[in-house]
Amino acid sequence: HEALVRWQHPERGLVHPAEFIQLAEETGQILKIGEWILGEACRWTTFIGAERDLQIAVNLSARQFNDPQLPKIVARVLRETGLPPRLLELEITESTAMRETDAALRTLQRLKQIGVSIAIDDFGTGYSSLSYLRRFPVDKVKIDRSFVAELPADRDQGAIVSAIVALAHALQIQVVAEGVETEEQREFLRSCGCDFIQGYLTGKPADADSAAKDYV
Ligand code: MN
Repeated sequence: HEALVRWQHPERGLVHPAEFIQLAEETGQILKIGEWILGEACRWTTFIGAERDLQIAVNLSARQFNDPQLPKIVARVLRETGLPPRLLELEITESTAMRETDAALRTLQRLKQIGVSIAIDDFGTGYSSLSYLRRFPVDKVKIDRSFVAELPADRDQGAIVSAIVALAHALQIQVVAEGVETEEQREFLRSCGCDFIQGYLTGKPADADSAAKDYV
């Protein structure tokens, strides 16, 4: 599961994060919101039961990732919610990871020491150097949906996707394809060895209570 936030506004109804995360990022509010999301996501996953071994993925914004307090906050939230660290996966985008590579590397190493898993989100859209994938303690890459959209008809996209899978596997990194909507896409991704798929084909976004009903 991946934790996705929505804002239930008293007058405007359900507000999509695209409409408020950018502003929260600019004002710094994201640090508070992000910590709250992290806590809720960990609590939810503890609630459905650690014995299921289901990982929860939580997106970190650039500002959160660059916050020197982040490793401490993550450790405290895990302690308070009782979630085993290996069941938490933190997602950072490729561009965030690439911005200050030395600082990013140190943060990632501290997070790995805590025992959480790390995923690079929107992979393929930034200026990724392949050498950083080897240097960074990364468990998963999530191939951006734009590479998946025209599969399997688009040969170029197909070639990019299978190259990413091969490269990641050579580095012991697992691969998730995002935005998978059709059987044909699933079949293609399976044929090139992609480890996981995410998208409407496997499940639509659901609110936390109904998603929990599948388990408890
Ligand atoms: Mn994500």
